[in-house]
Amino acid sequence: MLTPARCSINTATLGYKEPISKVIEQVARHGFGAIAPWRREVEGGDVVAIARQIREAGLSVSGYCRSSPIPTDSAATREAQYQENRRALADAATLGAACFVIVAGGLPRASRDIGDARAQVEEGLARLLVDARTLGVSIAIEPLHPMYAADRCCVNTLAQALDMCARLDPDHAGGIGVAIDAYHVWWDPDLAAGIRRAGSERRLNAFHICDWLVPTTDLLMDRGMIGDGVIDLSAMTNQVNATGFEGYAEIEIFSTRWWSTENEETLRVCADRLRTASGTSA
Ligand code: ZN
Repeated sequence: MLTPARCSINTATLGYKEPISKVIEQVARHGFGAIAPWRREVEGGDVVAIARQIREAGLSVSGYCRSSPIPTDSAATREAQYQENRRALADAATLGAACFVIVAGGLPRASRDIGDARAQVEEGLARLLVDARTLGVSIAIEPLHPMYAADRCCVNTLAQALDMCARLDPDHAGGIGVAIDAYHVWWDPDLAAGIRRAGSERRLNAFHICDWLVPTTDLLMDRGMIGDGVIDLSAMTNQVNATGFEGYAEIEIFSTRWWSTENEETLRVCADRLRTASGTSA
């Protein structure tokens, strides 16, 4: 069973309704062990002070969300987005984040060439990996459900993400891995093998959880609370734990419903559902 102490709250779950200082305090008060903030809450603020508040609240940082898209239709934009990602990576280091989450980006405007988009992702990550190693932060490629391939992320399966890691880091020097998000990969017939592979290659950097609702009424904003959908989170949690993963299971729920709920109530329900729906291993 997952307990709040072994779990993290991705602040997207709370809909960015409150300032990050208040969210840190709420997440800690509800007994969670970690938090995963977003750039929109951190950039422009005092990153050192935010990092200190998180530490003093007794929270770890399970991840920092997330990269600017990598594939573009011009060299100038590519450079600008690289610089943005490099700055965000430095903030991830300041925050002490376990990883910087890469949502790679989809097709450049007017493009029909998904192969090119994927090649651009790999090239961009090769460059960012040098910075990640210098800063001592790992980047985590998050494969997204294929329904987002065009507009959000052209990395769509765990195997694809792990293959990319293998090409970018053939000697296992580290600094790159994957974020496994239940919402994006639960349907994959090769999921169990992929989780085992991520563990054995020591590239499992993050584990995001929520549920898949039937019917899903919005492609982005209708993720389910743990236990409300059809994902066997208990089995997936056990598979992740069996790899020796020592990070936090991170609750990440984009949902119009939960975004319009008070943070206190959402956090209470999250903690409650962890106990009943997330797993049976010790
Ligand atoms: Zn995620």
